[in-house]
Amino acid sequence: MTIELLVLGGERIAAAEGKTFEVIEPSTGASMAEAAEGGVEDARRAVGIAREAFEEGPWPRTSATERGRVLTRASILFRERLEEFAQVEARNGVKPINAARGEMGIVANVLEYWGGAANKIFGETIPIQQPGIDVTLREPVGVCALITPWNFPLVIATWKIAPSLACGNTIVVKPASYTPLTVLKLADVLVEAGLPPEAISVVPGPGSTTGNALVSDPRVSKVGFTGSTSVGTQIMQLAANNITRVSLELGGKSANVVFADAELDVCVERSVWSVFDNTGQDCCSRSRMLVQRPIYDEFVERIAKRTAELSVGEPLDESTDLGPLITESQRQISLDYVEIGLEAGARLVTGGDKPDRPGFFLRPAILADVDNSWRVAQEEIFGPVACMIPFDTEEEAIRLANDSPYGLSGSVWTRDLGRAIRVAKAIRTGVIGVNSSSSVFTEAPFGGYKQSGIGREMGMHAVNLYTEVKNIYFSEV
Ligand code: NAD
Repeated sequence: MTIELLVLGGERIAAAEGKTFEVIEPSTGASMAEAAEGGVEDARRAVGIAREAFEEGPWPRTSATERGRVLTRASILFRERLEEFAQVEARNGVKPINAARGEMGIVANVLEYWGGAANKIFGETIPIQQPGIDVTLREPVGVCALITPWNFPLVIATWKIAPSLACGNTIVVKPASYTPLTVLKLADVLVEAGLPPEAISVVPGPGSTTGNALVSDPRVSKVGFTGSTSVGTQIMQLAANNITRVSLELGGKSANVVFADAELDVCVERSVWSVFDNTGQDCCSRSRMLVQRPIYDEFVERIAKRTAELSVGEPLDESTDLGPLITESQRQISLDYVEIGLEAGARLVTGGDKPDRPGFFLRPAILADVDNSWRVAQEEIFGPVACMIPFDTEEEAIRLANDSPYGLSGSVWTRDLGRAIRVAKAIRTGVIGVNSSSSVFTEAPFGGYKQSGIGREMGMHAVNLYTEVKNIYFSEV
């Protein structure tokens, strides 16, 4: 088996200590690749290369138009290899092949978007009271350490890689150790597209050592992080020592608010996917289903029936709906939460059992008659477990939706336009879909309220994460 080497300054290289680790295929539990394990020394070397490239290298000094061309070329090269990337992402990740193809399409779109956006990042002219001209410049922030999770390995990495490069930064990426393969390969594509090699490094390795070394390094100017709220807390504390800039995309426990006047056929079908897509391993998963009492029993029955129809199995089989959990322990966490819900008084309507086959699979579970104060409704499970919670009035629905430490995503289902507007405005969350389970788009801002994070990725809002604003005053006299 060949070893997937680190990317240090655009070059494939073994880890300083020569360590490697097995990359597991969650649908079998078997090894699918061996990868170099970056340690603290590799992290420091990568930061050193990126710092020098930022201070003296060509990338921050390249015209914005040329930077855009590199990203556009990368999107074209990536699209040519889309199927190859999708196959790796489906096998190494937790998603069926069709979902992986869709995600790789998003990766190409994000590269294309920032290819076009690079030379549309500019400052302002400000009418101050003194004689002269006052302008702002958007300058790259410096070396960006980009730390990413395993649930959407390449999509989330690209949400950070493309805008940070478009803004003229140099970068070190640390993908989750479970899923390093596609991010390493994307670095090769970017270098092939013309990115100066020293502008990018990719160092897979344990978060507690390699990730920690990146965040603590005073030569890093900015940490872009997506992951759990608990690790986000540690990163913010570490970054505080050097006043390193941070943006955090963290956990969620989003509400799916279904009113009695919702168009139920559409709502049931989309709600199933809003919670179980990616086998529930989605920060935006609408895992708290708040359902108005007159339709509560019918909704629970219909969503349970549709959920039981989902095919759970082989990721490369075109007819598969749901793939595995990422690890055995992640599956056990979901099973434990089903038990916690049952002990609190919930009713298991469907799923929650392991299919008789290898790999970390679990049939999607629906817990009915849940109280929003229970642990299953308050804590992020990050697996295929949905809670059904009845409510009576609009005010109660808003109160329950907001009764959560998180505020990332959500949906409202109603045919009453006024109610849709009132509820969408009242829920404290970064994104929300009305009669839709989607709310994350390449062109639109994405991020969390409360403990779901700080900052907005995606669309031109991401420029705020990857630039400093400089104010210059030109005196007239
Ligand atoms: P995680 O927090 O365990 O790990 C995320 C990344 O941080 C990994 O690369 C890990 O190696 C690294 N890391 C861990 N400890 C570190 C440390 N001390 N210093 C630096 N880096 C460290 O998260 P995960 O299990 O990979 O992903 C699941 C979590 O991510 C869920 O909570 C989910 O909600 C969240 N998530 C959020 C979003 C969003 O956009 N808001 C998107 C996807 C996932």
